[in-house]
Amino acid sequence: MRWALIGASRIASSYMIDAIRSQNADIQSVLSSDAARGEAYAREHGIADSFTDLDALLADDSVDAVYISTTNEKHHAQALAAIAAGKHVLCEKPLAMNLDEAGEMVRTAAGKGVVFATNHHLRNAGSHLAIRELIASGRIGKVLSARVFHAVNLPDALRGWRINDASAGGGVIPDITVHDADTIRFHLGEDPQEVVAKAAASGLGEGVEDSVMSVWSMPSGAMVQSHESFTHKFAGTGIEFHGTDGSIFARNVMTQEPVGAVRLVDADGEHEISYDKHNLYHRALGLFADAVNGKGRPSADGVDGVKSLAVALAVREAAQSGKAVAVNYGG
Ligand code: NDP
Repeated sequence: MRWALIGASRIASSYMIDAIRSQNADIQSVLSSDAARGEAYAREHGIADSFTDLDALLADDSVDAVYISTTNEKHHAQALAAIAAGKHVLCEKPLAMNLDEAGEMVRTAAGKGVVFATNHHLRNAGSHLAIRELIASGRIGKVLSARVFHAVNLPDALRGWRINDASAGGGVIPDITVHDADTIRFHLGEDPQEVVAKAAASGLGEGVEDSVMSVWSMPSGAMVQSHESFTHKFAGTGIEFHGTDGSIFARNVMTQEPVGAVRLVDADGEHEISYDKHNLYHRALGLFADAVNGKGRPSADGVDGVKSLAVALAVREAAQSGKAVAVNYGG
């Protein structure tokens, strides 16, 4: 398979170029808004072509798929153009700035018959696959509640548009709450119904929130508590599920790396849960390639991306209005 990168981004250089190549796929070209930067990026990463014009990049018939990792406000138009050109699309989260645009991207891809996936990496982690298996196999009984700890220290290199540019999709809610929404949906197999929330700027956010706490009600009656931030240097991450027959405590698992510890506590005592330590992004790219070859579905598809965005938008609306908000998943 041959790929093009739409966006000369850090996430592509840190993880995704490697992940694409891990599947024996080639990267033919990269799009950057700045010709010199695009050329330098292509040279640095051994990519043959760089473009500033999206249509020119998409005109290359040898390219089967595109990976979109520009800032969030650009995803919608770039995805639609790629789909129209018949390319399969792996798009970064949040899919778009609003639900209508995200829904349009997914529907258009389905109409064109191309694979469309959302890059929610956490559901690819061995730790999360193990947690999901514990829940699905009934090891903790009926799930009563979940808590997500995802307050981190935003690295200096990422303190650009994320903290000061609402028009580019900045803020911790589109950045991290979307991932937590996807992770909870993945584990519980149901979609949050209603949310309440408080958000704040706690040291980094300039015109966007850098911290948020929210509570979600689930159709099963389970309650979810979720905390995301850019300003917490020492908090560490984690996720917990508490059920009628046991509790799962996972620490340092809300991360891009295959790390962290998963512990089950039940009537028989404490159990350390072992899991496979594969690369999260390699797995995602493998499943994407399989889907392109007609086998299975991507780890997070377009509908997953629409739903995680819907939850994030509800959390932001709840924080801004001070009211409980029913999550609108669109048509
Ligand atoms: P970056 O800020 O690195 O890249 C976004 C855009 O900024 C690029 O497309 C590029 O524009 C421009 N840019 C990047 N570096 C520079 C630079 N040194 N000087 C000038 N311009 C630059 O964003 P991220 O990689 O952090 O995020 C991109 C997308 O990926 C977002 O949608 C984000 O939400 C998502 N993401 C997902 C993660 C995941 O694990 N799923 C993790 C991190 C991010 P141009 O292309 O025009 O050159």
